[in-house]
Amino acid sequence: MQSLEAELETARQLSIDELADAIESIGFECTRCGACCTGEADDDHTATVFPDEVRDLEASDTDGADDWRDIARPMPYGLSETDDGDLEGETFEWALQTDSCGDCVFYEETDGVGGCTAHDDRPLICQTYPFSVALAGTSQPMGKAVDSVSLPARDADDEDGIVRAHECEGLGREISREDAEELAGALKERAVRELEEAIAVRDNYAPATPAPGEVVVHDSEGSKRVDGTPLEK
Ligand code: SF4
Repeated sequence: MQSLEAELETARQLSIDELADAIESIGFECTRCGACCTGEADDDHTATVFPDEVRDLEASDTDGADDWRDIARPMPYGLSETDDGDLEGETFEWALQTDSCGDCVFYEETDGVGGCTAHDDRPLICQTYPFSVALAGTSQPMGKAVDSVSLPARDADDEDGIVRAHECEGLGREISREDAEELAGALKERAVRELEEAIAVRDNYAPATPAPGEVVVHDSEGSKRVDGTPLEK
């Protein structure tokens, strides 16, 4: 497997034209079904959000995004549950906050049509759903991968990148070149950001010993409490 640094270099070399070709060949138009913003029967909605994206939402005039905990929760993977049903332990990412139904806290539905109250400030993972670039160290969205397109290799040793498409009823619909290029630009930015974050998390990690019933999130900026404040040493 390539080092995270090598994968980051590959992500930085991604061609927006080639990504747009891949997106165009798969095809996509958002139907506003809300499937990528809502939880499933046994699983709450889970989408990675970077610390600066949380702050951007806090600073925006998005309704209900006044406090870190309104926007983000610790990514639950790897956490254990106490007898009281609370989570505890260490985790390495933030996820968009969910409501009592397990849906993203910014999702609203009117007459069966979904909408995002944070649309202008929504995180990169939302801007790029249902696509991802398969590189080691990037995170994959909730939906299963259902289609993929290989990008042209640059040289004989190149492990060419793969654009994946995840479960979405909007796949296969015609997309304009302009929209495909805009999506491709965001997809490249997301792949680069995810790898930069993964490298910073690795480099900044200092083991913590959370108290019973406490969660510590180690993100790219250091170790934090659930309210986003730095953990005191
Ligand atoms: S922030 Fe908006 S686009 Fe992203 S999951 Fe929530 S409702 Fe959907």
